Amino acid sequence: MYDIIIVGAGAAGLSSATWASITKKNISILILEKGNKCGRKLSASGNGKCNITNSIFSEACYHSFNDGFISEFVNTHSNSEIIDFFNKCGIMVYEKDNYFYPTSNQAKQVTSRFLEICKAHKVELEYDQCVTDIKVDNDNCYIVKTTDNEYRTRKVIIASGSASCPELGGSDTGFELLKKMGIRETDIYPVLSPIYVDDKYISTASGVRLNAVVSLKKDGELIKETGQLQINRDNLSGIAIMNLSCYLPMLGKDSLKDCIYVDCLPEVSWEELKKFINSQVFAHRVNNVLSILEGLFTTQFAKYILDRVHIEYDCGIEKLSEKVINKITSNIKKMTFTPICKYDINKSQASLGGVSTDEIDWSSYESLKYRGLYIVGEALDMTGKCGGYNLMFAFISGINAIKHAIKDI
Ligand SMILES: Cc1cc2nc3c(=O)[nH]c(=O)nc-3n(C[C@H](O)[C@H](O)[C@H](O)COP(=O)(O)OP(=O)(O)OC[C@H]3O[C@@H](n4cnc5c(N)ncnc54)[C@H](O)[C@@H]3O)c2cc1C
Repeated sequence: MYDIIIVGAGAAGLSSATWASITKKNISILILEKGNKCGRKLSASGNGKCNITNSIFSEACYHSFNDGFISEFVNTHSNSEIIDFFNKCGIMVYEKDNYFYPTSNQAKQVTSRFLEICKAHKVELEYDQCVTDIKVDNDNCYIVKTTDNEYRTRKVIIASGSASCPELGGSDTGFELLKKMGIRETDIYPVLSPIYVDDKYISTASGVRLNAVVSLKKDGELIKETGQLQINRDNLSGIAIMNLSCYLPMLGKDSLKDCIYVDCLPEVSWEELKKFINSQVFAHRVNNVLSILEGLFTTQFAKYILDRVHIEYDCGIEKLSEKVINKITSNIKKMTFTPICKYDINKSQASLGGVSTDEIDWSSYESLKYRGLYIVGEALDMTGKCGGYNLMFAFISGINAIKHAIKDI
């Protein structure tokens, strides 16, 4: 018999067990992990550097089908909780452009430190144990069944994550388990992924990076994100694009057409850009249109723009009519794309939706149906933008659940 069983050794499950270990409570904890490794997403996070939180923390940083839950979370927590927790774990953190990282810049080291602390406090961890069923017995204890074992515990914390990024262990086994228990979930979509677009020239611009403003048209409104845009063989990527990918699943098929705009030169206004191109034409300093665009971008990107507007690279500047200049300008200031799919689960860093937040107590994360059972992390309907918000939620929910769970043990 255990005091607490944690289902899933990811960011939420490990931080839960680590917090309990640090507070030195004499409790027995078992973590059941379906894979043969723990913290796989945590170890890969932030390009391996582990972006754990952010100094900008507002309701706009999260998505949920329940706006009230976002307000409650943002109004009751702050990034200092994460920084304190990391300090308690002996991990120093630093801030760069609002993003917080461990000073080691090593996500894997964060996972190892959590494990080290858990091990020192005799937390048990069993790999290759996929939890398939949870039942309540006559003494109000939980019987937790895995594919080949059965365990008894007073309390359970479900930290099973989402199906996003199966390569790093994402699966929906946790949702299947909770569904069997009658716990409701919202619609669930993989998000925070690149956006694949219908553009026959895009591969020619593969490798280009730009500081851009990217926008998505949704219900007549423009949702804007600023940041580095990365062009790949068949998709657009980068933090700003990944953040916009959270809105794609909600768009009807007809709304996908031309719904993404990129301002490739946000520092320069339309008028300034047109004036610049006209001045080059007038001054006759260069011979052709490609040379004009090479004054603005790399040759590779300049050629891509001209391909998109069907203008020959060596088109003489004397042939550049006002109409053509307008076409080039609008391809720079409002380059338009049509997504060809709404998401890619393999490249997705998180899921939109999850267990409905109506199923839990918002401060303790305890199920309203099953006392002593908690649901935390990405398994819940709460999704952060890029910038450390998902790990922050995983850590805070994991820690709050175990704080509550150990109160009466
Ligand atoms: C490549 C990548 C980079 C990312 N970078 C960042 C970043 O820099 N900052 C940020 O904030 N977020 C980042 N994220 C998102 C963040 O990593 C996740 O939101 C976070 O790890 C979720 O934590 P979790 O514990 O809820 O789920 P997970 O970390 O997915 O852990 C769930 C665990 O439960 C196990 N499990 C599932 N079902 C069962 C079952 N039935 N029985 C037993 N075990 C089970 C899984 O194997 C897994 O180990 C990134 C994600 C990816 C994929």
